[in-house]
Amino acid sequence: MIALSLAEIAEVVGGQTHDIPDASVLVTGPVVRDSREAGPGSLFAAFVGERVDGHDFAPQVVAAGAVAVLGSRPVGVPAIVVDDVQAALGALARHVVDKLGTTLVALTGSAGKTSTKDLIAQVLQRKAPTVFTPGSLNNEIGLPLTALSATEETRFLVLEMGARGIGHIRYLTGLTPPKIGLVLNVGSAHIGEFGGREQIAQAKGELVEALPEDGTAVLNADDPYVRAMAARTKAKVLLFGEADEADVRAENVRLTDTGQPSFTLHTPSGCSDVTMRLYGEHHVSNALAAAAVAHELGMSAEEIATALSEAGSLSRWRMEVTERPDGVTVVNDAYNANPESMKAALRALAAMGKGRRTWAVLGKMAELGDESLAEHDAVGRLAVRLNVSKLVAVGGREAAWLQLGAYNEGSWGEESVHVSDAQAAVDLLRSELRPGDVVLVKASRSVGLESVAQALLESG
Ligand code: ATP
Ligand code: MG
Repeated sequence: MIALSLAEIAEVVGGQTHDIPDASVLVTGPVVRDSREAGPGSLFAAFVGERVDGHDFAPQVVAAGAVAVLGSRPVGVPAIVVDDVQAALGALARHVVDKLGTTLVALTGSAGKTSTKDLIAQVLQRKAPTVFTPGSLNNEIGLPLTALSATEETRFLVLEMGARGIGHIRYLTGLTPPKIGLVLNVGSAHIGEFGGREQIAQAKGELVEALPEDGTAVLNADDPYVRAMAARTKAKVLLFGEADEADVRAENVRLTDTGQPSFTLHTPSGCSDVTMRLYGEHHVSNALAAAAVAHELGMSAEEIATALSEAGSLSRWRMEVTERPDGVTVVNDAYNANPESMKAALRALAAMGKGRRTWAVLGKMAELGDESLAEHDAVGRLAVRLNVSKLVAVGGREAAWLQLGAYNEGSWGEESVHVSDAQAAVDLLRSELRPGDVVLVKASRSVGLESVAQALLESG
C-alpha cells in the first residue's frame, strides 16, 4: 500500500482515534483482515464474524508490528474506530485509487472471472507492474483489500467483481471506478438467487453503466445478453469473440492432441498464432477477453499472443493436469462446473485421451433451476458421443440424470456407473484404473470432488 498516516486514514474513513499517541505515524501496509497476516507497518481490519470477533486479536496484531486496528470499538491498543468497518475499507480503497491514478480494469461474468483475471494479469504484467485480485476475493471486502495493495509503481489494477444481486456491482464500482469494464458472459450461475437470466444481465451490466465516457466496455460478441449491454454505457465498446463483427477475434480454433486450444488471434493491430498451455476450449473466450483488454492498453497482437501462449493457471483445481508415476493422468477441474464448462472439459478429455482409456468422474451442476434435468441429460449424452470410455456419475438425483443421458444416447451398459459419494468413486477407480488412463474430475463447488482427484494422486 502507499504510505498513509493514521490521521489521514481516520479522516478518510470518518473515524475516531483511540489510544494513538502519535497520529502522524505511517501505515505502509498491507491492510489485512486475517490476524495471522499482520506484520510491521500493517493495518488490521477487525470484523465481527459469526464465530470469531476480530477485535479479540488486537493485542496480537500490534505485537506482530501492526500500526493500528480499524475496528468498531476501542480495543486498548492504537485504533481507528468507525461504525461500519466494511464501509471504511471501501472509503479507504477509493481514496487510494484516486490518489494513485492507476488504470483500473474490472471484470465480471457468470463463469471464468478468475481464469480470465489471471490471464489478463499475466499479459499486462509483461508491459507494466500489475496488481490483481488474489484467487476469487471479489466481494465488498476482498475488492478493497486488493485495491489497497497497489503501490506507486502499480500501473494496472485488475479487479474481479462478483455479483449475487442487483446493486452489488454498482457498489463495487463506487469503491474502485474502472476505466475498462469487461463482461464475460451471462450464464446460469446463481440463477436461483437472481430469479432469471434477465436479472443476471441487469446486475452484471451495472459494470458498464459505471464506465466514464473516455473508458472502454469490453463485451462478449458471442453472448446476446452481454452484447446488448452496449446500449447501457457511455464508454467506447470493444467486442471480442468468434463472431465476425468482433474487434478481437479468434479464427481457426481447434484443440491440439493434448486438449489445449490453438487459434489465430486477430486484433485491430494485427494477427498472431496462439497455442495455450491451459486446457479446454472455454479458455478461447477468456483469452480473447484478455486480449481485448491488453489491446486497449496498447499491446500488439504479437505481444499478446506470446503472453497468452505462455500463461499458466494461477488458481487451483481448474483443469489441473497431473501425471502419476504409473502413467495415469488426472485432470482436476473440481473447482466448479456449469453446462458450458462441463462440455468443454469433456471435449478436452476426449482430445487428451486419443488412443487411451478416458474416465469422466462427474457430479452435479448446481443452481440450474428448471433447466437442471435437461442439462445433466445433455452432458451424459455428450460423454457417449465423444466416446469417453467410462462415466462415473457421483451423488444423488443429478448424477442419476447424467447416467440417464448416457443411456438415452444408446449403447451404454457397463460404460456408465452411478455411485453415491466421493469415497465410492475413489474405491471404484482405485481398483479399475490402468496405466495410461486419463481421468477427468468435475462438478459444482458444493460437491467437493477435489477429494477424488487428491485421493487418486496420493494412491498413484
Ligand atoms: P467464482 O464465481 O467462483 O469466482 P469464476 O467466475 O471466477 O467463479 P473461474 O474460477 O475462472 O470462474 O472458473 C470456474 C469454472 O468455470 C471453471 O472450473 C471452469 O470450468 C469454468 N469456466 C471458466 N471459464 C469459462 C467460460 N468462459 N465459460 C464457461 N465456463 C467457464
Ligand atoms: Mg472467481
